[in-house]
Amino acid sequence: MASAMLEVGLPAPVDPPRVEDLRLPAARVRLPEAQAERLGASVDAGVRAAHTYGKAYRDVARALAGDVGAAPDVVLFPSDEAGVREALELCAERGFAAIPYGGGSSVTGGVEARGLRERFPGVVTIDLTRMARVLEIDRTSLAARVEAGILGPALEAALRREGLTLRHFPQSFEFSTLGGWLATRAAGHFATLETRIDEQTESLRLLTPAGPLETRRLPSSGAGPDPKRLVLGSEGAFGVITEAWIRVRPRPDARASADVFFADFLAGARAARAIAQAGLHPSNCRLLDPTEAMLSGACLDGRAVLLLAFEASGHDPAGLLARAIEIAREAGGEPGKTRTKASAGPSEKDGASERWKRLFLDAPYLRDHLARHGLIVETFETACTWDRLEGLVSEVARAVAEAARRECGRAVTGCRLTHVYPDGAAPYFTVVAPGRRGDEVRQWDAIKAASVEAILAAGGTVTHHHAVGRDHGAGYIAEQSTLFDEVLRNAKHSLDPRGVMNPGALLPLPPSPEGRP
Ligand SMILES: Cc1cc2nc3c(=O)[nH]c(=O)nc-3n(C[C@H](O)[C@H](O)[C@H](O)COP(=O)(O)OP(=O)(O)OC[C@H]3O[C@@H](n4cnc5c(N)ncnc54)[C@H](O)[C@@H]3O)c2cc1C
Repeated sequence: MASAMLEVGLPAPVDPPRVEDLRLPAARVRLPEAQAERLGASVDAGVRAAHTYGKAYRDVARALAGDVGAAPDVVLFPSDEAGVREALELCAERGFAAIPYGGGSSVTGGVEARGLRERFPGVVTIDLTRMARVLEIDRTSLAARVEAGILGPALEAALRREGLTLRHFPQSFEFSTLGGWLATRAAGHFATLETRIDEQTESLRLLTPAGPLETRRLPSSGAGPDPKRLVLGSEGAFGVITEAWIRVRPRPDARASADVFFADFLAGARAARAIAQAGLHPSNCRLLDPTEAMLSGACLDGRAVLLLAFEASGHDPAGLLARAIEIAREAGGEPGKTRTKASAGPSEKDGASERWKRLFLDAPYLRDHLARHGLIVETFETACTWDRLEGLVSEVARAVAEAARRECGRAVTGCRLTHVYPDGAAPYFTVVAPGRRGDEVRQWDAIKAASVEAILAAGGTVTHHHAVGRDHGAGYIAEQSTLFDEVLRNAKHSLDPRGVMNPGALLPLPPSPEGRP
């Protein structure tokens, strides 16, 4: 569909390079045998290469080109908190940069040693995926204590055995971890209300080079600034999150959903706003513009589509859906068939939301496949208040289409609203453009720069949920006050006095004396 919309044929795919052909930089960190064994250290070429990047388009493009110059010197796989503590002590003592690594699904350079080999005598990636146990379940309070390295499917499988669920399903659910979600303040399943992992976090534990920082298990507290909020979103720059108490719930047993079609995106946005402001709290309220609807196969006739769903445990959400549909109809929408869980049969499988969901789950794999065929396929996202939405969406779409046409000759750009709030929404853009072999990363960087500039000028944030990482540092600083930047840097200095924790992520590195990045 993407290549048809671009009216270009796909060139033959390039194969990923073989590990034995990669030219990795020398591994500079040598550990005594016993310590290497204790920490699960690996200098294997495949392991180092696999931990060089996250999963953004520019990561895929560089990996396909065999560019692994920023590979870490060593990857540690601690299996308990004592191992993490020892790894942090090692890094602090010897001045090695330490990069916490969950599933490696960062799309903003969060796990990449960009510019670090030149500044640090060693770069150590700390992979948390061996710390993947559900440690305790408190059924009275409906909370679970879980190690940070657990991947989404393993966490849900463990909770399912207890009849429970976290219901945090980011698109990267399969290959991202609880610790990564907490460190990036990920947004998941719920399109309204509890959109982020923040709301599902009761307390967490962070190991820092200055010692452990553990927050209290409380449903809520009015005692001053919340320490939990310092750890959420810290992106490995303050320390390693080793475990957390998360809020779980019974599995929903009822669901009601419908697709509502609109002549254009803005009419759909008016409906989404009215639904968000009516206090109905649908679990799904995602609006696809005609291009996104077409790319995903949700609707092929040039209309926008609003995907609505409500889910509940122990009561019927059909009445809430009926009210949301009524609101959407008043805004000019044309509802399709209503589906309830009990009636879910073949017709549900054919609904726009089902087709969209299939593509949503397949998209990460499809993106990598298209990149092998030379297509630049990437997404970026923001959030703004409703009063700015129309201006932001049109300005960003214009700036990006212009940059993409300048760089690539042609491009398809689409927009959807992934999350909606009473006072605003999160627009999410997709760009597909033909890349030039060997020049794709520069082409994408030019398009991305145009998007960030347009987003900030139109009053949006540099990210709604993809995090800051190394790509959005300057934008993050630009949207904060100078005083907040200073407070954050002082907090980092207290927790990480030698500046070894994920340097350059969240807070940009100062320029090096030699002018290197
Ligand atoms: C196809 C695709 C779809 C995506 N969809 C979504 C989405 O729907 N919603 C969303 O929010 N994001 C999404 N993302 C972005 C990404 O998946 C999230 O940022 C996710 O939370 C990262 O988790 P991870 O375990 O992979 O972390 P990593 O990528 O390994 O790390 C991300 C950052 O967190 C730090 N970190 C990781 N673990 C820890 C820890 N235990 N302690 C301290 N710091 C740590 C790392 O140092 C890094 O800075 C998507 C990414 C891809 C590739």
